Amino acid sequence: SHHRSAIMSAAPTPSKPLPTAPLTLRVGCVGGGQLGRMMALEAPRLNIDMKFLDASGGACPAAQVIGVVGGSGTTIDSSSSNSINDQQKHDENARVIDGGLYDNEKLRELSKGCDVVTMEIEHVGVEGLVQLEKEGVNVQPSSRIIRIIQDKFVQKEYFSKHNIPLPPYIDIPNIEAIYSAAKSLGLPLMLKSRRGAYDGRGNTVLKETSREAIATALSDLGLLKRDGDNESLLVLGNDDENDDDTTLLYAEGWVNFHSEVGVMVARSTTGEVRAYPTTTAIQTDSICRVVLVPARNVSACVRKKCEEIAMRAVNSLGDGATGMFGVELFLVRKADGGGGLDVLLNEVAPRPHNTGHYTQDACAVSQFENHLRGVCGLPLGSTELIVGAAAMVNILGAPTGGIERTMKGVNAAMCMSRAVVHWYGKEYRPGRKMGHINITADSHAELDDSLAKLLEVEAISED
Ligand code: ATP
Ligand code: MG
Ligand code: MG
Repeated sequence: SHHRSAIMSAAPTPSKPLPTAPLTLRVGCVGGGQLGRMMALEAPRLNIDMKFLDASGGACPAAQVIGVVGGSGTTIDSSSSNSINDQQKHDENARVIDGGLYDNEKLRELSKGCDVVTMEIEHVGVEGLVQLEKEGVNVQPSSRIIRIIQDKFVQKEYFSKHNIPLPPYIDIPNIEAIYSAAKSLGLPLMLKSRRGAYDGRGNTVLKETSREAIATALSDLGLLKRDGDNESLLVLGNDDENDDDTTLLYAEGWVNFHSEVGVMVARSTTGEVRAYPTTTAIQTDSICRVVLVPARNVSACVRKKCEEIAMRAVNSLGDGATGMFGVELFLVRKADGGGGLDVLLNEVAPRPHNTGHYTQDACAVSQFENHLRGVCGLPLGSTELIVGAAAMVNILGAPTGGIERTMKGVNAAMCMSRAVVHWYGKEYRPGRKMGHINITADSHAELDDSLAKLLEVEAISED
């Protein structure tokens, strides 16, 4: 019947036949931080064998678990090989490659013997990825996607062209443009580095357009250059150090948001797409602190709209948009005063994301598993919540009092039912993301009880 065929055509159509026996796939991951570590912890269940490229080599969070969980745990050791062939064989078995993420040779080394090369961070050398693709390496998500996303201004232009709702933004090629942006977008003005940003590093808020305020803002971003004698401010790309047309900075209108939400979207090489439920993301000092799911003070209808916009944004990226995407959204009160909420896209990350960590303990299939499924072309797993409500609390290095103080909150969580602690194997540093705690419950009320207990301990320990 018509009805039946409609349902059938809505179902995902794999581009190649599904496997008839368990596969053993080797996935190389650029970056070995906590996101890579949490992929590595899920991979063996799927017969996926992982290797990593990271500048801190065997000390990185992923390296610490790959040797134990993933198998041989070999790292490169040139002393034991006596021919080039031996060396090559040995390299292919290496689980951890010590090298920078912009180093084309190291990227190539990572790709050796891999069925798929993926990444846990978007700040990687795109030219190196392009080269690998030319050589026939299966890079997922593709270099084209990373190129769009890793420059926040290019990302904004792309989504704008695809009719994704965004805050107003404008390129800043020179100092003059800051004044005119403040005029057209108003104050406060959000100034953002186009590249390399994370945890709000790369953003600064301009509250007035005095010369001093602008100088301070630019120096916050490491972009202030003084022209010796006359002290005029110099900006911003388009100078001799930058041989292309790329500027370093752009501006965004200030968004007076009702709340920030995140939607994790999984997309497979087959084109299959699924969204996890909308979460509330509570940030302090631009660092994600707590995530609540389902999102709070947001109607089911708006949550659905968020999921649709997030999927539309990821789909708009087209071929090569694979694995997990963390979609950060602003909810803004409608101007009509009726209490409705508009949805604006803040940014997209082409990888598992902090606002999706709760999926480890609150969903049948986590974002880390779905990342691997998506980049390997396997069917995606369920993205449904299998508990009534969940929260994630980041374990940040306590600002004072060292690791002892940090441990108070974690020890409290260890004693709670339905709380799960995830460490990243990182040394203590004030403010550093060192791990997270997932809490699950049957209801919002029950969840809030547990969360209050946990945050109370943390608050006391921060006094
Ligand atoms: P991430 O670690 O998520 O990659 P980031 O360094 O890329 O962070 P953004 O996501 O651009 O930074 O911004 C960090 C936070 O700053 C946002 O989560 C939001 O709280 C606030 N913010 C960003 N842009 C705006 C804006 N235009 N208006 C108001 N607040 C904003
Ligand atoms: Mg970002
Ligand atoms: Mg962000």
